[in-house]
Amino acid sequence: MDLFLSGQNAVVTGGASGIGLACATALASEGCHVALWDLSPSTADVAASLGQKAGVKTEGLIVDVSQPATIEVARLQTEELLGPVTIVVHSAAISSGRFGFPFTNVPASLWDRVLDVNILGMVHIAHAFAPQMVERRSGSFVFVASVAGQIGSQTDPPYSASKAANINFAQCMAKDLAPHGVRVNTVCPGMVQTPLNQSVWRAWNDQQPPELRRTYEDWANEKVKNVIPLKRWQKPEDIANLVTFLASERASEMTGQTINVDGGFVMHW
Ligand code: NAD
Repeated sequence: MDLFLSGQNAVVTGGASGIGLACATALASEGCHVALWDLSPSTADVAASLGQKAGVKTEGLIVDVSQPATIEVARLQTEELLGPVTIVVHSAAISSGRFGFPFTNVPASLWDRVLDVNILGMVHIAHAFAPQMVERRSGSFVFVASVAGQIGSQTDPPYSASKAANINFAQCMAKDLAPHGVRVNTVCPGMVQTPLNQSVWRAWNDQQPPELRRTYEDWANEKVKNVIPLKRWQKPEDIANLVTFLASERASEMTGQTINVDGGFVMHW
């Protein structure tokens, strides 16, 4: 299926790793020019290697999504290289690094940075790109949230709360922007092996007595077996497939949707 993405320009936040990188790779393989925005020092190298492999224009910029001034500089830089941005995939996020169960294990002081990056980061990205998309009467935002934002997951309460906020604000954006021809959708991954997922295990493992500690593989495989009906991990590419479709005009009748790629973890009716 041709997604008609060739020649379009995308920004992918959190694009240097995990799900963001898979999204950038999928968009580039469809002929999209892609800017990777990430805090990681490897961002420029990752972008250069992606551009070489896919034969599209890429750029990697060090951007902290919680800093609106930095975002504005990056937006101008990206538009100078690629032209107007038609697709924004927002995947950057952090965990608190602490394990809940109960929520009092995560002191209130640790909520600040998580909310700053995960909620306000999304808000800053939305403010940076929506006005131009409205002016051009076209554009597509895809936000990567989480099933944790739908089920009151106790694993990392500030993270779960921030992901619920992402889902809600994306719906609010979708309503505001629909009359202007701009679409906004949300994808919720289930369990994907990435540094962020590993940080959840580390937080859990660190608070266990030595006899109860497990390797990441043992902990995660048991979790997948217990909570995922399809009994397998989701891969970054599984998430990227849906993100790429939603970003494209093939999804032109879809906006304000929250779709899970989670092996059946959360089932609504
Ligand atoms: P990851 O750690 O591989 O990637 C996250 C990227 O975001 C990293 O490259 C990191 O440097 C970047 N980042 C962090 N803070 C940033 C900031 N302030 N500014 C810019 N970049 C920043 O993790 P991932 O698992 O690929 O996570 C991607 C998205 O998927 C996140 O939104 C996460 O909540 C969501 N998610 C992941 C899982 C999972 O199991 N891995 C499950 C559900 C949802």
